[in-house]
Amino acid sequence: MKSRDVIVVGGGAAGMLAAISAAKSGAGVTLLEKMERLGRKLRITGKGRCNITNTKPWQEFSMHIHPKSNFFKHSFYNFSNEDTITFFESIGLKTVLERGERIFPSSGLASDVVNALTAEMERVGVEIILNTRVTDLTVAGQKVTEVVTINTKSNIETKYCATTVVMATGGLSYPLTGSDGDGYVIAKNLGHKIEECFPSLTALMPKDYSKELEGLQLKNVEIALFIAGDEVQREMGELDFTNNGIEGSIGYKISRKAVKALINGNRCLVYLDLKPALTKDVLIERMRRELDLLHNPSINQLMRKLLPYELISSFLSFVNLPADPLKAPKREVTIKAIAASLKAWKMDIVTFTSYERAVITAGGVSLDEVIAKNMRSRLYDNLFFAGEIIDLDGDTGGYNLQIAFSTGYMAGLEAARVSKQAIIT
Ligand SMILES: Cc1cc2nc3c(=O)[nH]c(=O)nc-3n(C[C@H](O)[C@H](O)[C@H](O)COP(=O)(O)OP(=O)(O)OC[C@H]3O[C@@H](n4cnc5c(N)ncnc54)[C@H](O)[C@@H]3O)c2cc1C
Repeated sequence: MKSRDVIVVGGGAAGMLAAISAAKSGAGVTLLEKMERLGRKLRITGKGRCNITNTKPWQEFSMHIHPKSNFFKHSFYNFSNEDTITFFESIGLKTVLERGERIFPSSGLASDVVNALTAEMERVGVEIILNTRVTDLTVAGQKVTEVVTINTKSNIETKYCATTVVMATGGLSYPLTGSDGDGYVIAKNLGHKIEECFPSLTALMPKDYSKELEGLQLKNVEIALFIAGDEVQREMGELDFTNNGIEGSIGYKISRKAVKALINGNRCLVYLDLKPALTKDVLIERMRRELDLLHNPSINQLMRKLLPYELISSFLSFVNLPADPLKAPKREVTIKAIAASLKAWKMDIVTFTSYERAVITAGGVSLDEVIAKNMRSRLYDNLFFAGEIIDLDGDTGGYNLQIAFSTGYMAGLEAARVSKQAIIT
């Protein structure tokens, strides 16, 4: 049986960082990846550009981490967003700061991130084994003793022996990239508690969604999420209407709570404020002025002054307009109805896009059973977890990759340290 100091399971963002930090600490490291290439998911991040991290200071950064940002604090401080930039620059990947404090590779190519990480793993001596799916971890007492694998091409089973093991198998989203939930099954079989998984950063589909909205992008709008009648979240920013419903940065932000509510059978409403900078009264005044200026005005002419053309007919179908809407005395009723809908366009969210196109999986290996300061399992002395497999996730904006990089770095470091100790004693 082959034996190594550290075995890392999964060649994604977290696994590659774990392998690098363990090897740099002097450990003999083998990385096992089931796909034929490393970092399949990394290659599609940031629409192929890879938003590596976000430069916000911890106080702000932490507000984008769920469900317990404090758990992440230790690994973040050990390998921070600044360390991530310094690390990538040190391995030859130039980076650039963009709007929203987001960091990308200067080349604009996510594949360059994978190439840089692969080259660094080779440089520090990580043994990379592809097409190798880990199917089980054998344990004895509080120790993992064997890593059981199957070659995805030949179906040949091989067992590896390692002093320490890092599980970095990702979540369930975009399963074609290789992250299809294997890690949860393995961790569960070992007795680890798995917090309920659900897709997050995903599209939300409103009832009676109009095809006319598809392709429309709105900037500077506000969205309020109501679950079972209570307002639970309010966000301002960009919103995209796609063939799957509501997406874009604020759509994704509310999706975590919305998806969970839908799964639990709760009513989920969103109210869109299309004019967050104006009060209802100011809008009413403005519409009165616009109508006074128009010769023989129509509703469409009025709406052209207020909304992008493509939005108008869908929007109007939600407004309760009287007959002859612009004739006195109905004009005031119409103006007030339009103003009310511009400030609170109600949408009943009925479903969501599942893992096949969700950016992230929420839930995972329970934080109660992982030690935050070293990413070690509380059940097994030589088992570590890193990345999306853990019950930690972030908003869009580079937060999820930072979770993977920081927890991966920490897990690798500690796995190497524990393996050295085991060899000495
Ligand atoms: C479309 C999309 C865009 C995104 N864009 C961004 C972005 O720009 N910025 C950002 O911060 N986050 C982004 N994310 C989220 C980010 O990609 C993930 O949070 C991150 O990749 C998680 O890293 P990981 O290493 O934990 O898991 P993964 O990257 O999923 O890697 C897990 C690896 O483990 C392997 N594996 C799984 N099971 C086994 C097994 N049994 N045996 C061996 N190997 C196994 C998989 O094949 C995979 O290579 C995006 C996600 C998606 C889907």
